[in-house]
Amino acid sequence: MMRRGKVLLEGSRQGSVDGKTNVANDKELVHKCHSDPGGGRALGAAPRTHRHRSASGATRKCVLTLDGYSYVIGQHGSLIENQQGALTIVRRSSSRSKAESCPTPTDEQLDSLDLDTEHLPAVDTPDACDKAALRLRYLLRQLNRGEISAETLQKNLQYAAKVLEAVYIDETKPAVARQQSAPTLVFRRLADEDDELSEVQPDAVPPEVREWLASTFTRQLATAKRKSDEKPKFRSVAHAIRAGIFVDRIYRRVTSTALMQFPQDVIRVLKTLDEWSFDVFALHEASGGAPVKYLGYELLNRYGMIHKFKVPPTTLENFLNRIEEGYCKFHNPYHNNLHAADVAQTVHYMLCQTGLMNWLSDLEIFATLVAAVVHDYEHTGTTNNFHVMSGSDTALLYNDRAVLENHHISAAFRLMRDEECNLLQNLSREEFREFRTLVIDMVLATDMSFHFQQLKNMRSLLSLAEPTVDKSKAASLILHCCDISHPAKRWDLHHRWTMSLLDEFFLQGDKERDLGLPFSPLCDRNNTLVAESQIGFIEFIVEPSMGVCADMLECILGPLHSSSKNSTSSAEPINEESTGTKDRNENSSKFKIRKPWVACLSDNKKIWKEQAAKDAEARAKQEEENNSVPPTTEE
Ligand code: AMP
Ligand code: ZN
Repeated sequence: MMRRGKVLLEGSRQGSVDGKTNVANDKELVHKCHSDPGGGRALGAAPRTHRHRSASGATRKCVLTLDGYSYVIGQHGSLIENQQGALTIVRRSSSRSKAESCPTPTDEQLDSLDLDTEHLPAVDTPDACDKAALRLRYLLRQLNRGEISAETLQKNLQYAAKVLEAVYIDETKPAVARQQSAPTLVFRRLADEDDELSEVQPDAVPPEVREWLASTFTRQLATAKRKSDEKPKFRSVAHAIRAGIFVDRIYRRVTSTALMQFPQDVIRVLKTLDEWSFDVFALHEASGGAPVKYLGYELLNRYGMIHKFKVPPTTLENFLNRIEEGYCKFHNPYHNNLHAADVAQTVHYMLCQTGLMNWLSDLEIFATLVAAVVHDYEHTGTTNNFHVMSGSDTALLYNDRAVLENHHISAAFRLMRDEECNLLQNLSREEFREFRTLVIDMVLATDMSFHFQQLKNMRSLLSLAEPTVDKSKAASLILHCCDISHPAKRWDLHHRWTMSLLDEFFLQGDKERDLGLPFSPLCDRNNTLVAESQIGFIEFIVEPSMGVCADMLECILGPLHSSSKNSTSSAEPINEESTGTKDRNENSSKFKIRKPWVACLSDNKKIWKEQAAKDAEARAKQEEENNSVPPTTEE
């Protein structure tokens, strides 16, 4: 039962407490926690024990840390003899709020410290500062005593270093003020949260475009930070590529035999599935209006998910059919089954063409693909703002927060409660929980009002000396970027998507007019600057997103690439196209992914700029004409 941490023993440093005694300690404690309302949360948690030697040597104490509370359990010599070793809780204190946040910890608090490095708070939180300081104190003391393993020392120093890297001195204070008072330490993550639109220069876009950017892509910080994932273990790029080809071959064969039959036209279109500018409109046509069904099926099959998670083929087919139906429910010009298929295909590109699939577990890949497929399920063709302003039932249900995203997730999981559509039926309980959490995190992160926050968080994480990227955060950013990726595709595809989205926005504008509501930005069909809004969208939303996404992928996959270089020379050559938020010249040997979106973004922006100039000219001409109309005789 002694799970973690060092145990100092009364009378002897080794083994005077046998396993049984410790089990008894744990049971005793858990029992007391049951009857203590404050300790009720301890149920089921793994307790940690530490023996403690009192100064006099007369009292034996055991300090046990359980779910943030330290319990000092006393064994007086006389009591042990007279009462067959009965234990009493001498003191219970919150090791979270007191012991670990105390600037000068006592010996007792240090004794109760658990040096586990797996369950620490994220490095850019105030709690991490306290924890790191306490650990440094403990390490110092143990070094003096010569009682510390090199591994524990290394891990804890590493954590403390990361915490220190995550804070910086607030340079915005005048130098004099900084000298007079203690410097203000600020977490990088928190440094510029209030300044979400800081990238957008005031005069870079027309005010209405700026207003739209602000109303669609910002919001107050609301999410609690999750613990960073464990640092991943990497396989080589060569492995990645070989595995990809292998999976591809095997499952392509399986697809065409045992599983659902694909029409010839669909097979032909799916030959280009791995390309950045895959033509999802062609798939729509080839599949008789069922792109989600075939693309979803093909992807889950290619990545081996049907086999790995024992998804009955007919269940998958039923599920995809129903999802496709849900996307068609409101006949939206943009948020329909085509968009779902497009996003899923783009996610597939990111997974397979960058090697990301080798950094993720099977379950994470499964969740990412399903999240992409369901991410706008039953979209109403109206925005969250419209739901809130019109007081829709869905807004009422989700209290005006991420209204649509909550619905997409909830409705998709509800669909899976139907046994005929339950593609998760053979997942273990743990797998199901993990899958569900991942899908919820990913789809909620497609709420555009988190956009700037999401990018900022990832940027500041990547600026650390040794960034540890959380799997869920990485997959969420990938899905978010794929969701807004059409301006980064070939012009014909992008233009078509834009026209569809504007159609949808204008239909919403019509509804707003009918309801007497003010027009949402870009929704007034008679008063919207199309080209300008697209330039703004590309420059301030899509380009930065793709830049951060590329930086993240290079950070995650770089070690994988270098390990492949060391172990084998068969890794694919990586194109050296430049983009991203950092200056890469200083490190030209750094691993780079291919970025086919860079050229597309630049081409598309150029076309919109030409269009904007023409539109401006036409408006000026129109205005001139209006001004030159002679006054009517009646006036
Ligand atoms: P989703 O609604 O989940 O598909 O997220 C995509 C969002 O990105 C849309 O709802 C729009 O707010 C925004 N968006 C995508 N494409 C464009 C575009 N061409 N112009 C303006 N906003 C866009
Ligand atoms: Zn979407």
